[in-house]
Amino acid sequence: MPELPEVETVRRGLLPVMEGFAIDAADVRRPDLRWPFPERMAERLAGKTVTALRRRSKYILADLSSGETLIVHLGMSGRMLISGRMPGDFFHDHAPTEKHDHVVLEMGSGARITFNDARRFGAMDLWPTETLEEHWLLKPLGPEPLGNAFHEDYLAERLRGRNTPIKSALLDQNVVAGLGNIYVCEALFRAQVSPRRKAGRISDKRVRSLVPIIRDVLTEAIAAGGSSLRDYRQTSGELGYFQHTFRVYGREGLPCTTPGCGGTIARITQSGRSTFFCPKCQT
Ligand SMILES: [Zn+2]
Repeated sequence: MPELPEVETVRRGLLPVMEGFAIDAADVRRPDLRWPFPERMAERLAGKTVTALRRRSKYILADLSSGETLIVHLGMSGRMLISGRMPGDFFHDHAPTEKHDHVVLEMGSGARITFNDARRFGAMDLWPTETLEEHWLLKPLGPEPLGNAFHEDYLAERLRGRNTPIKSALLDQNVVAGLGNIYVCEALFRAQVSPRRKAGRISDKRVRSLVPIIRDVLTEAIAAGGSSLRDYRQTSGELGYFQHTFRVYGREGLPCTTPGCGGTIARITQSGRSTFFCPKCQT
């Protein structure tokens, strides 16, 4: 499932072929993904210029010259494929249409953008840009982890007195938006905080230390995604998934990498999801 750094990588990959360009034609090949598409979606997209391409949490937001914003969520398996003419004189052949190519945008930049989603947990909607924050998917979201509203005082305040494990508290999208399972595991590992510890019972100093650590974990992953973007133009034109090494995620049974620890990474299930952590140095 794409997490925030993957979504940001997709946004950055789409930027040079979408922002500032018109959608010459939109081909909407089914009535829905996870939810029904908005009415007359193809007509509402065609002929409109993408004035800005932004991200909020794991949603890609394409502001249109019509005053509406196209909201895109990749869901579990959504992929974006760019074909056609690319900035820098790269060219990807138009792949034959595949079964799971659900929405195709022909851009004035010469690029064709294909949204493919085998499992159809993805979503698209159109909403007035002016009241975007009121959209039912965006309204419940807390601050962006890389934004100014997410800071030490804020997190300390939000976690005070909370009786849930810190892992669950950080996955709560109302506390901080877009933080998913992998990067919460990584952040707690670096902070040496046990994922099972009650959020309200962690010392103020340790709670505060989580803020720069969360920012670092995400920033490093976005940088890794950025290097993957340098390759995609020469390869498939597919955006969004890249190789990234984790310090704790997926490392069950392997030695802990904290210097001098000597522990072994364990896996437990919390709220139905795998948590990877070192029981020795994460306390
Ligand atoms: Zn350890």
